[in-house]
Amino acid sequence: MSTKFIGPHVSASGGVFNAPKNAVDVNATAFALFTKNQRQWFSNPLSEQEITKFKLEREKSGIDAKYILPHDSYLINLGSPDPEGLEKSRNSFVDEMQRCEQLGLTMLNFHPGSHLKKITLEECLERVSESINIALEKTQGVTAVIENTSGQGSNVGFAFWQIKRIIDGVTDKSRVGVCIDTCHTYTAGYDLKNSYDSVWEEFDTEVGMNYLRAIHLNDSKKELATRVDRHDSVGKGFLGMDFFKRIMADRNLDHIPFILETPDESLWAEEIALLKELSAY
Ligand SMILES: [Zn+2]
Ligand SMILES: [Zn+2]
Repeated sequence: MSTKFIGPHVSASGGVFNAPKNAVDVNATAFALFTKNQRQWFSNPLSEQEITKFKLEREKSGIDAKYILPHDSYLINLGSPDPEGLEKSRNSFVDEMQRCEQLGLTMLNFHPGSHLKKITLEECLERVSESINIALEKTQGVTAVIENTSGQGSNVGFAFWQIKRIIDGVTDKSRVGVCIDTCHTYTAGYDLKNSYDSVWEEFDTEVGMNYLRAIHLNDSKKELATRVDRHDSVGKGFLGMDFFKRIMADRNLDHIPFILETPDESLWAEEIALLKELSAY
């Protein structure tokens, strides 16, 4: 039996209720999805019918809500320097948190934000914390899960201390968590390939393993510390197969979802089978 829960970011096209089946089709035991069109600011509210159907399909899939990690829209910038953009992002984020709540899901994964070179990195982090506070006040039962970035452009959240700074500014610490993306971690400059244990020690010291809620499991098309975000398929990039063997055997990471955002969909079933094998005990 595998001690890891693994699955891709599946399509929800045609309706959110299609996502669980798409996960089952590749033998996934976890999955990610968008609960609305990720390239639009707002979508129609979920209907009662859609919600009921999603819950039914989720149940049928056998995948527990704790292994489902919805991802927010790419347009949202919770650290935006622009008042209008910030307001729009915050409203949209609350809407997404509420959609998760309606679907019976317990987490929402998001990229912290970008300073767009108009405010300092610290100011940006402060805005992100405040945005999380607003969203947590307006919702119940959903944890805001901060994803570390590769630090491309003016994206914040690429260093562990920045994640910690965001968490420090959040009032309800029981509903904030972290998703570590392995590609982002590596290209942000943490050498998960050659210094696996010390990277996690550093994360534990600077942020705390108690905040870890999920892993985005991706290989990297770019080298260490390039600050470029380009995912590769399992074992095909700079992290390489030994890294995947290592992380799949890491018992500290049991019972959290491992989400594949690997580029070649046709390999997902194969990747999942391999990863399950590597984590079997
Ligand atoms: Zn990711
Ligand atoms: Zn990425």
